[in-house]
Amino acid sequence: VARNPNEPEFHQAVHEVVESLAPFILENPALMKNKILERMTEPERLISFRVPWVDDKGEVQINRGYRVQMSSAIGPYKGGLRFHASVNQGILKFLAFEQVLKNSLTSLPMGGGKGGSDFNPKGKSDQEVMRFCQSFVTELYRHVGPDTDVPAGDIGVGGREIGFIYGQYKRLVNAYTGTFTGKGPEWGGSPLRPEATGYGTTYFAAEMLKTRGDSFKGKTVCISGSGNVAQYAVEKVTQMGGIVVTLSDSSGFIHDPKGITPEKLEYVMILKNAIRGRIREYVEKYPEATYYEGKRPWSIKCDIALPCATQNELNGEEAQTLVNNGCICVAEGANMPSTPEAIKVFLDNKILYGPGKAANAGGVATSGLEMSQNSMRMTWTREEVDQKLQSIMKNIHAACVKYGQEGDFVNYVKGANISGFIKVANAMMAQGIV
Ligand code: NDP
Repeated sequence: VARNPNEPEFHQAVHEVVESLAPFILENPALMKNKILERMTEPERLISFRVPWVDDKGEVQINRGYRVQMSSAIGPYKGGLRFHASVNQGILKFLAFEQVLKNSLTSLPMGGGKGGSDFNPKGKSDQEVMRFCQSFVTELYRHVGPDTDVPAGDIGVGGREIGFIYGQYKRLVNAYTGTFTGKGPEWGGSPLRPEATGYGTTYFAAEMLKTRGDSFKGKTVCISGSGNVAQYAVEKVTQMGGIVVTLSDSSGFIHDPKGITPEKLEYVMILKNAIRGRIREYVEKYPEATYYEGKRPWSIKCDIALPCATQNELNGEEAQTLVNNGCICVAEGANMPSTPEAIKVFLDNKILYGPGKAANAGGVATSGLEMSQNSMRMTWTREEVDQKLQSIMKNIHAACVKYGQEGDFVNYVKGANISGFIKVANAMMAQGIV
């Protein structure tokens, strides 16, 4: 804590991992001797830079940009860029640390990193977003590359932002490389990348349910968020026979007891991605739904919960409400959405709980597939990518079961942490003290 002051999210993420790894590390003296954990929690490199840009009124604005290059033990740094007013060094370090283990879990050769800025895209014009992205990458470009560091999107960074960033990057380096993922389908993007995190989380939840002879069919599902991950989670859950009854944003949530049908989801996608509106507008279009200002959706009775908005959006009390209401499965589309108190409730009650680093790894896995396609200069079909995504999610699930089985209960937190850790630790020991 003294070494990393004012970084509560980073402490929280490391604490959770250390808690499950401690017995394993104590049994393996080489891990202690080589100070693997101490090295893994210190970024290999952390870049912080000024991002000046000019708004539509002609005023100069200054934001702070970052890239945390956490670990390159098993491949080039890989992880998203987040544009959100709350972004700071500690949040990006937590995300980068989680990313190292998550990327290892995918079984693809990717190290871990994360970056972004405290730039708030809300209410900004396309021109302002473009000028910001161009300024951001004018510094970032010298630190990334197809074999060095391959950033992608995250909160506030979708297809539009990756487009602006990639366009300026290409101009600066005078080369068409696969340095960024999440590109458009016509210019190097992988089929299914936009869908991958939401679909992958749903596939992972389906695997967990299968261990208890269950499925999404006829289940009531609460989803939080209404961005990229949430939207495609709604789509896949609905395809698998579940009924999604909630969505949210940072202002509140909507409850639609009749379910968010494909037609309603299409409206949400237009509302959030094109108009860039708020989720409260849903109830103007569909009056059968209710909007709850300033609230989160966890009080709504459901069988399955998929938190897909942001970190620490589900606390211990809310977890207890979910369990009391009969919730049997929680799979995290977002990164660290459940507080430590919430995780304890899920584990104590032995419900199926899939932590983000396992459940939402489908996004970065498909980014890894985009990197492969770019290197080969070819594009797989949507069906081919979906097949690979499903098989990766199944393998991650199997790895969690292998390392997380405790009697007849699977502790997916322990399983994901140990399984992700082993590969990185072995690579670090083989590569010496670097
Ligand atoms: P988007 O920007 O597309 O959507 C984010 C959603 O979360 C929005 O609905 C947003 O509401 C809401 N949100 C953001 N901050 C808060 C907050 N402080 N309180 C409540 N709601 C909030 O991002 P993504 O869907 O891409 O990302 C969502 C989560 O999934 C993040 O945790 C991200 O790290 C994780 N993730 C994303 C991956 C991807 O491929 N995109 C891969 C793996 C994990 P509002 O519009 O009000 O801000």
